[in-house]
Amino acid sequence: MYQLIALCLLLLSLPLQAQQVEIRGTRIWTAPDRTRLVLDIATSVPHKIFPLENPHRLVIDIPDARLKDKLPVLKADEPLLIGIRSGVRAGNDLRLVLDLKKKVRAKSFLLKPNERYGHRLVVDLAPAGKGMGKKATGDKPRPTPRSRLRDIVVAIDAGHGGEDPGAVGAAGTKEKVITLQIAHKLARLVKKEWGMRPVLIRKGDYFLRLRKRIQLARKQRADLFVSIHADAFRDRRVRGSSIYTLSHRGASSEAAKWLADKENSADLMLGIDLNENDALLATVLLDMTQNATLEHSNLAANRVLAKLRKVGVVHKNKVQKAGFVVLKAPDIPSMLIETAFISNPEEEKRLRSKAHQAKLANAILAGIKSYFTKYSPPGTKFARGGRGPEHSHVIGSGETLLEIARHYDVSLTSLRKVNDIHGDRIRAGQTLTIPGS
Ligand SMILES: [Zn+2]
Repeated sequence: MYQLIALCLLLLSLPLQAQQVEIRGTRIWTAPDRTRLVLDIATSVPHKIFPLENPHRLVIDIPDARLKDKLPVLKADEPLLIGIRSGVRAGNDLRLVLDLKKKVRAKSFLLKPNERYGHRLVVDLAPAGKGMGKKATGDKPRPTPRSRLRDIVVAIDAGHGGEDPGAVGAAGTKEKVITLQIAHKLARLVKKEWGMRPVLIRKGDYFLRLRKRIQLARKQRADLFVSIHADAFRDRRVRGSSIYTLSHRGASSEAAKWLADKENSADLMLGIDLNENDALLATVLLDMTQNATLEHSNLAANRVLAKLRKVGVVHKNKVQKAGFVVLKAPDIPSMLIETAFISNPEEEKRLRSKAHQAKLANAILAGIKSYFTKYSPPGTKFARGGRGPEHSHVIGSGETLLEIARHYDVSLTSLRKVNDIHGDRIRAGQTLTIPGS
C-alpha cells in the first residue's frame, strides 16, 4: 500500500517536474563596487525581484522553478551579502532570499547562452546611494598636489574574469586566473619602482566590461594601459607570446563614438569649452591625441616585446595591430600582451608556474621602464630624471624659488647652493640648475 502511494505520488510529480524550470547552478562574484549573483536556468524565465526591510533583504521570485543544487556558501568578507536561502511558495514557485548587510540597489537581467553557459539570470547588487557601476570603484583618483612631481601611473588589466573564464587549457587552466596572477605580480614590481605607481584594473574574480576597464584607467589618469592575456589556438603546437596595439582603423572608428559622448569629449579636451561650431576643432584635437597615443603605444609595446623575447619564444616578431576594444582609450598608450598560448600544453604548464609568471612580469616591467626612461610624461619624477644628472629650469614670470624647489622635489637649500643664490630674489628668464637627487 505504501509503495502504491509512493508510486502515485511519483507519477503525479513527474509531469510537474518536467515542466518546472531547473536552476542548475548558482554563482556569486564579488567586485569592489558590486556583487553579482548568477543563476543558470534551463530556459529564459520570467522573474521578479523586490527588497524587504528590517532587516534588509532582497527577494527573487521565479515561478514554477526549482533548485537542482545547493546554494553557494558565502565568504565572510563578502561586502553586501550575509547569506542566501531558498524556499518553495504556492507549491512549486521558487523564492530566493538574499540576506543583506546593508541596503542595496538591485537590478536583474537575463543573459543569452554562450559557448560556456546556457541561459542565465543575473542579479547585480550595489550599495544603495551609490551609482550602479558608475562610482564606488573603491579607487578614488589621488589628487596630485600642485607643484609636486607625480608618479607615473601604470594601469594593469587582467583579462577576463567572473563569468568569463577566457581561454581554457587542456589541463583546465583558466586564462582569467593566470592573467590575474601575473597582473598582481606586475603590480607588486611596479610598486617597488621609484616614481611609479600601479593601478590594478581588475582586482578579483569578477566580470568587468571592456569599456569600464578603460574608464577605470582614465579615472586614475593612467600613463600606460597594459592588458594581460593568454592566447589560444586550435593547433596545440602554436606557442609564444605576442603584443597587440590598436590599429588605425580601430582608432578612427572609435573617434566618432568619443565625440558623440559629451562627457568623454569634454574630459578629453581638458576643459576646452566646445560648442557645436567647434566640431571641427574637436575632431582635430582628438585626431592629434589619438595619433600620439598610437605612436606611443607602439614605442612602449616594442620595448616590452624586446624584453619578452629574452624570457622565451615570441610568437610574432613584430607588434601586431588589431581593433581590440580594451585598447581604445584615445589618450592612454595601450597594449595587449598575449603572454603565451594556454592551448599549448607545455606553455599552459609554464603559465601556471610562479617562477615563469615572475619572469614574465619582470620582463614586462623592464620594457615599461625602458619606455618611460626615454619618453617620460611631463610633471613626473621620471621627467626630472630623478636619480639621473642635474638639469636646468628657465624661470617663468611670477615663479618663486620655493615653488620651483617643490616642483622638482628638491630642497630650497640645495637649489640655492647649486645656483649660488642668496635670499629669494630670482628673475624671470634666468636659468636655474636643478640638482639631481
Ligand atoms: Zn584573453
